Amino acid sequence: MELVAGNLGRRNFLQTGLGGAIISLSSCSSPGTGRRSESARPPKPGFPSFREVVDLTHTYSNRFTHWAGGTAKVELETLSSTSRGDGWNVTRWTIDEHAGTHIDSPFHRNPDGLTVDRIPARDLVLPLAIVDIRAKATESPDAQLTLEDLKLWEAENGPLPDRGCVAMLSGWDARVEKPGFINFDDEGVRHFPGFHVDAANFLLEERNVLSMAVDTASLDYGPTTDFPVHTSWLGGGRWGIENVANLAELPPKGATLVCGAPKIEGATGGHSRILALV
Ligand SMILES: [Zn+2]
Repeated sequence: MELVAGNLGRRNFLQTGLGGAIISLSSCSSPGTGRRSESARPPKPGFPSFREVVDLTHTYSNRFTHWAGGTAKVELETLSSTSRGDGWNVTRWTIDEHAGTHIDSPFHRNPDGLTVDRIPARDLVLPLAIVDIRAKATESPDAQLTLEDLKLWEAENGPLPDRGCVAMLSGWDARVEKPGFINFDDEGVRHFPGFHVDAANFLLEERNVLSMAVDTASLDYGPTTDFPVHTSWLGGGRWGIENVANLAELPPKGATLVCGAPKIEGATGGHSRILALV
């Protein structure tokens, strides 16, 4: 390393990517030397470091099962096309706001709540806690994430993260392009897991949680008729994410969720790119 540094000169050496790579290797292999490179410097407080990005977003297509029945509407109208000699490929989208992996803004249920464009950016990057209810969701499609599930999570993992997102892992994300995702019975009642309102109220009143996420089509479980979780949670100024994917790839705590919410004036939510940094 010293030979290379001597040939390049210190300044050039530090300006090359090579220098950074060598210094990083050196600081890894020589603990205790007290030397520290730019790349080995610890992250600023409050900014997470990460090794991997996990995509929690389903591809949004017209095969996606819609909460109301049938499939989501996704239309790409061709405005110009290279294949017809226009020089550019440009489309205009028509999509359902609350289908696919998407955010529910407070305004979705609460006329005084924030529309999606007004949710502060600093609230859209947050520590993620994942509550695994797959065992009971396998036994019953009407399973709910209860207060007891949250207490058990805290007993195993410590307090739920401040200003965080609590996600329900039911395993339902494997069904998003199948009728079994909404799971209507013969009477037209839906059957899929969701949060229990007591759990939502605990997160709202006893913990400082900003967001909840589900791998099903609704924060409320399927059979509900009055949507108490939406009413309480969005009414309390919080927001939610529905139809998330791949939660099973993440640890119960330690990941950071990034919500790429649309910034469309007046929108009540909408398709979002949801990423987890681990
Ligand atoms: Zn929604």
